[in-house]
Amino acid sequence: MTQQAEMTELEHTSTIHDHSGCREKAIHTAEKLCSQRGVRFTPIRREILELIWESHRAIKAYDLLDRIKPHMGSAKPATVYRALDFLLEQGLIHKVESLNAFMGCSYSDHRHDQLLLVCVQCHEVEERPGERVMEAIAMELEQAAFTMQRKAIEIHGICGRCASSSSSSSRAAN
Ligand SMILES: [Zn+2]
Ligand SMILES: [Zn+2]
Ligand SMILES: [Zn+2]
Repeated sequence: MTQQAEMTELEHTSTIHDHSGCREKAIHTAEKLCSQRGVRFTPIRREILELIWESHRAIKAYDLLDRIKPHMGSAKPATVYRALDFLLEQGLIHKVESLNAFMGCSYSDHRHDQLLLVCVQCHEVEERPGERVMEAIAMELEQAAFTMQRKAIEIHGICGRCASSSSSSSRAAN
């Protein structure tokens, strides 16, 4: 019985994943894509991407600016904004419009629509392919004879981890 409880606990904590793997994969993909496309992955661009990938939380430009200062004393806002523009153009990051913040893209090796699940509690953003949702929207747009330029859907709510930690803490309180 205790064994069973331990197993469940372990499975649960495994959703708190080894994030260094996410970051390394993203940086590696960025290096590969930039060299394939013949664009330069300069130190400032890399630095900004690494900062964005420090977590799955969306980060605002001025927070990036604050955090880059200790690394690069002379980083001017314009330099950071240009680096962000580059990363957006290359599809390495996304802008979360509703938060006016940036997040790393998990599928940067191909162009795609974005279904972003924004947790209002921990501010983590999960990017999902959301193919069925996007197909339905494409049909709707076709009926409306509306030519879309880009598709990004942001949904605000509570992520699974926050929901389960608040329900377990309320259980503990009872
Ligand atoms: Zn991660
Ligand atoms: Zn993406
Ligand atoms: Zn959350």
